Amino acid sequence: MRRVAIVGAGQSGLQLALGLLGAGYQVTVVSDRSAEEVAAGRVLSSQCMFDGALQTERATGLHFWSDACPPVEGISLAAANRSGGKAFQWAARLDAPAQSVDQRLKLPRWMSELERRDGGRLVTREADANDLEALAREHKIMVFEGIPSGPMDCWGDVRSTSPEAPGSWRHSCRGRRSAAGTSS
Ligand SMILES: Cc1cc2nc3c(=O)[nH]c(=O)nc-3n(C[C@H](O)[C@H](O)[C@H](O)COP(=O)(O)OP(=O)(O)OC[C@H]3O[C@@H](n4cnc5c(N)ncnc54)[C@H](O)[C@@H]3O)c2cc1C
Repeated sequence: MRRVAIVGAGQSGLQLALGLLGAGYQVTVVSDRSAEEVAAGRVLSSQCMFDGALQTERATGLHFWSDACPPVEGISLAAANRSGGKAFQWAARLDAPAQSVDQRLKLPRWMSELERRDGGRLVTREADANDLEALAREHKIMVFEGIPSGPMDCWGDVRSTSPEAPGSWRHSCRGRRSAAGTSS
């Protein structure tokens, strides 16, 4: 069975992970925050999911809040000018309703789904370059979802250890030896 490692347990990482599990892959997700930390943490964004994204959630069986969450039927945006008046304002109806589920509710539930479903594994730690190298050796495909590149300065090496990494990924960085071709 093909194994995929995903670093980052946000909206895209978890949705991809659960979709791949449904397609029969083994998936490891590395998250720098536990489900409890996400649930007790700050609001992450306005988290409005539009029709296309909602359809993907439904297709993946991840739409646990469809009935409970009210529809968002339109959007309006206003910005203030320096004197306290409105610089601009617009409002428009959406072609299809959106929904905004608090990600402090959604992501922990998806994390628990990941662990509950066959082949899913959640690792709670902030992945560093060494973790990525180990993951690349153990998994066929590595995916990075929403990870800032700054803290890990050797992704080029790490990506190149993945057996299915495209040739364009194979480059060394910052004086480190390129790991291209070291795994099979
Ligand atoms: C204020 C604001 C409002 C927004 N509103 C909307 C909206 O209404 N609708 C919409 O569609 N989009 C919105 N967005 C954009 C949306 O939030 C992003 O597009 C989306 O979160 C990207 O998802 P992601 O899973 O790729 O990344 P993220 O959600 O950023 O997830 C990445 C995860 O990886 C974790 N991580 C980072 N480094 C590591 C590491 N080294 N090891 C392990 N884990 C790590 C992070 O903690 C995070 O949990 C908004 C963004 C902001 C800032």
